[in-house]
Amino acid sequence: MNKSIEEIRADFPILSQKVYGKPLIYLDNGATTQKPEVVISRVANLFRHTNANVHRGVHLLSDNVSEQYEAARETVRQYINASKKEEVVFTAGTTSSINTVAFSFGEKYVGEGDEILVSAMEHHANIVPWQMLCERKKAILKVIPFNDQGLLDMEEYKRLISSRTKLVAVAHASNVLGTINPIKEITAIAHKEGIPVLVDGAQSIQHGIVDVQDLDCDFFVFSGHKIYGPTGVGVLYGREKWLEAMPPYQGGGDMVANVTFARTTYNDLPFKFEAGTTNYPAAIGLATALDYVTSIGREEIAGREKHLLEIATRELSAISGVRIYGTAQDKVSVISFLPGEVHQYDAGMILDKMGIAVRTGTHCAQPVMDRYGIPGTVRASIAFYNTEEEMYALASGVRQVMEMFA
Ligand code: PMP
Repeated sequence: MNKSIEEIRADFPILSQKVYGKPLIYLDNGATTQKPEVVISRVANLFRHTNANVHRGVHLLSDNVSEQYEAARETVRQYINASKKEEVVFTAGTTSSINTVAFSFGEKYVGEGDEILVSAMEHHANIVPWQMLCERKKAILKVIPFNDQGLLDMEEYKRLISSRTKLVAVAHASNVLGTINPIKEITAIAHKEGIPVLVDGAQSIQHGIVDVQDLDCDFFVFSGHKIYGPTGVGVLYGREKWLEAMPPYQGGGDMVANVTFARTTYNDLPFKFEAGTTNYPAAIGLATALDYVTSIGREEIAGREKHLLEIATRELSAISGVRIYGTAQDKVSVISFLPGEVHQYDAGMILDKMGIAVRTGTHCAQPVMDRYGIPGTVRASIAFYNTEEEMYALASGVRQVMEMFA
């Protein structure tokens, strides 16, 4: 790591705040990450100095913004190692990217009796758009189960693939269990049958190297706000052959080549999927966030988070009565647990008063809770700016909560 932890933390203004008079221990990074000053000032300076609508004007400001926006696309391309800029579409976020594919791909390729395959550990964003598609098209949603540890049942996956399977949609990493799924194996199996695979990267993009060519996925989606960038922007990576063949999702400005009442033709990729004024300040801010992460070092970030996860796991496991959900070997730095018989909301609220921000509930992944027969969990999600001391503070906080309810 080329910066000390103190230097890294100083990059994030919010981390030096106090809550209830106590130092903030922010362990809700799976929900959203905090923003470094470089991202905050890039977006603020854009509004201050160069704001104009993207791709709209011949004037200096608009040209300048368009250049920054297209440079941001190139930054994303390099970051995920897409082979072409045309394969990188800016959307409003992961949810919007998945809905785009569900609608557009679904419109063209899915019909009555066809099947879409998802896993049982998906976020609702990677379930509901497919359910809605299946309802529209009278198609069938099939579900790959996972075991107690939180590992996908790959044998069942192979069995579920059929001649009617049109698409496989699966999380790269689970937002509840932390499991990193074997995407290369999943795509290899699907591709043997010519089936495309969408990877939900909302919980993987921020934790290490994502290489869409190496994963060999057909779609890869993520949100800017999960990787230290602004909210309201995300990415839909799509293999050119699919994006070319798919119809536009939304109609409007910028996605068209020529409009007459007799006939409208559509713009080239990626603009065909970017109707209307996009969130260009956020896209530009996202590129700054990616540059920032690159400057820290993606492998260094992954290594540091793994180390922190190990401490948190060890310390929480040592507390009698704590149950951890998601014990795969290969995990991102997310740890879901229940503190004995204490309700997860009570635990979350008391931890909050200690300055520790965690998430409680179903984490928009109700089927995961149903799989374990629990109403929800407490989730601590760790970023590289967290500290070893914070891991010990979490464990000590959980211990205190359990003593209070004993
Ligand atoms: N998928 C996963 C795995 C997630 O963790 C999230 C965010 N919690 C989403 C999808 C949805 O992301 P967004 O709300 O940014 O669209």
